[in-house]
Amino acid sequence: MSALAIAVDYDAITDNVRTLRARAADAEVMAVVKADAYGHGLLPSAAAARKGGATWLGVAQPSEALALRAAGDSGRIFTWLYGTEVPARALIAADVDLSVNSAEVLGEIIAVARDLTVAPRIHICVDTGLGREGVTLHDLPGLLSVAQAAQAEGLLRIAGMWSHLAWADQPGHPTINLQAENFRSAVVLAEERDIDLEVRHLANSACTLTRPDLHFDLVRPGIATYGLPPVEDPDGANFGLRPAMAVRSRVVLVKDVPEGQGVSYGHEYVTPYRTTLGLVSAGYADGVFRAAGNRAEVEIRGRRYRIAGRVCMDQFVVDLGPATQVCEGDVVTLVGPDGPTARDWATAVDTIDYEIVCRFGGLRDKESA
Ligand SMILES: *Cc1c(COP(=O)(O)O)cnc(C)c1O
Repeated sequence: MSALAIAVDYDAITDNVRTLRARAADAEVMAVVKADAYGHGLLPSAAAARKGGATWLGVAQPSEALALRAAGDSGRIFTWLYGTEVPARALIAADVDLSVNSAEVLGEIIAVARDLTVAPRIHICVDTGLGREGVTLHDLPGLLSVAQAAQAEGLLRIAGMWSHLAWADQPGHPTINLQAENFRSAVVLAEERDIDLEVRHLANSACTLTRPDLHFDLVRPGIATYGLPPVEDPDGANFGLRPAMAVRSRVVLVKDVPEGQGVSYGHEYVTPYRTTLGLVSAGYADGVFRAAGNRAEVEIRGRRYRIAGRVCMDQFVVDLGPATQVCEGDVVTLVGPDGPTARDWATAVDTIDYEIVCRFGGLRDKESA
């Protein structure tokens, strides 16, 4: 085992997708598996999500879409992040649904489609207020005209229209309704031109969980798929979702020290009494945030311990207290069902749990994927 062992419970991903499907009611579920499935492993996560009923998979990068196809996934796959260098030929041959972000990308797709016998399915991305990907409402009519002309020629199929929210994780934020209104008017613009959209989609995890009125035909949960809802469940039940990732290490040394012993570089922790220290064999070179020193907690034998002092390159220390049962070789849970959550770590190091799982997940033993 390397310094950190990253375990993923793929059954949790399957169960989470089932739960999200039930919440989505009539809408279908696109499990977002970008960024190596938020660190959980692209292929096994995708398979687990399919098993739970994800009729769609969503990825940012074309290479991820192609990797899913190469692995034999034959369901609907949607990809959205590229400029005009989009590998349109490979994606169309692989029957991947393509986002259209701009007139330039649309032109590129049309140019490639002219040489092919299959008509690619495109989803027009509208920037309804995120200020990130998509065409503005101002540019939408012109883009629709070009796309519609290409569709009339049989060069492509306008399958979808979609957008993404800026503040979905703050339910009640006024931009949510504003963006939804903008999205509706974009859809109306297409419908007025008799464009028959197969799917309209807007909802990320937070929107899926809090705004059933904005599910449209398809929801795109990412982080909730991995059991980490970005909003609080008013019922205190984590929306029935289960975190899929666990991060563990081991105690490699246990020793008694006197009161007043400074611990680790800079002595930022000083023992308040005669106590026992435990040394854990994982540090910032292994992905343990240096900012977690004196802040984040770990669990050993069912008890929580705060990291004592600075996190070093490949080790950190915990104060086990004067009468500990902890022994060398004991498992240390940094994140897991039997320990702190990714959210706890996010709070400790001042980020979001998305970054915690991407970071720790980046350390996974990739051969198993
Ligand atoms: C990442 C992403 C999602 C999923 O967001 P979560 O907050 O993880 O649910 C959905 N749609 C797009 C376009 C994204 O970039």
